[in-house]
Amino acid sequence: MNSINKFLVILLAAIIVLAGVGGAAAQNDRYHIVTTIFPIFDFTRIVAGDTMSVTLILPAGADSHSFEPTPSDIMTVQDADLFLYIGGESDGWVDRILSSFGDKKPATVALIQSVRGLNEEIVEGMQHDSSHDEHDDDGDEYHDENDDEKHDDDDDNDESDSHSHSDGVIDEHIWTSPTNAILMTEKIRDALSALDPANSALFAANAEAYINELKQLDADFRSMVASSKRKVFVVGDRFPFRYLAHDYGLEYYAAFPGCSTDNDPGASTVAFLIDKVREYNLPVVFTLENSNQVIAKTIADATGARVEVLNAAHNVGGNANLEQTSYLSIMHENVEKLREALN
Ligand SMILES: [Zn+2]
Repeated sequence: MNSINKFLVILLAAIIVLAGVGGAAAQNDRYHIVTTIFPIFDFTRIVAGDTMSVTLILPAGADSHSFEPTPSDIMTVQDADLFLYIGGESDGWVDRILSSFGDKKPATVALIQSVRGLNEEIVEGMQHDSSHDEHDDDGDEYHDENDDEKHDDDDDNDESDSHSHSDGVIDEHIWTSPTNAILMTEKIRDALSALDPANSALFAANAEAYINELKQLDADFRSMVASSKRKVFVVGDRFPFRYLAHDYGLEYYAAFPGCSTDNDPGASTVAFLIDKVREYNLPVVFTLENSNQVIAKTIADATGARVEVLNAAHNVGGNANLEQTSYLSIMHENVEKLREALN
């Protein structure tokens, strides 16, 4: 082989190698992860780093409980390399569109199966609307469907089998517990690694660093509760903090359970909450993010307590910058708000 031919062979080999590398990189760039609500979006972008594009379906300011996807949202989900959602009561639209996709379904993970689920709880004084009973029936159906999907997805999480399948509705607000946020982050890490094994070491490192921050958040909640003189709080709104209250041994009273679509409490519910604020002499009555605050303000007017927002982090506000908001910053603010309310 003369030197020119040798040069051409080497050049050709180099082009093939470069094309291969370029092709893999280009494909890698296109991995597109679609998420339903803010906490999943936040955990995923942190674990993925710059390697994948991550989309939040819920528009800023939208209510996740009444969300209905646009045709373009449906296409975004169908085109995803991986679709991550909670799998709770607010995700009826997810079940509908996934079944409409037939065989052209994206890979999916329902994160509710990565934690130990707790049933929604009706506490004393809570407005227990009749639609909640209807949910109970839907709940059973939904869990059956989910179990089927789970076997399609991945079989690497033994804990997912431990969540309660008893009667009642599993509360969907799993992310309000930092401990659950850790389990969700681990599940997301594993799902991204399955999709893109070449970057699994990066995902593992990103997840580990983030989990350390979540452990610190958990420790902050624990020490705040341990040093607080009260262990009870009142939310004049829906109650999406079942997992938070459970983790930290807090008692609570609220107007509605977490999934309630009712926002008009009876006079007896409001009177009951006013009595509780007086009985415990509570300085704060909570409302939620994106709430009209009417119930909390009524309780505050009657008792002299002040209204504060306890943020369940379903979504970011209407003019929020996604880059400047994080689950951690929202939850650290909640630590401080609870500290005020419990002291
Ligand atoms: Zn909710």
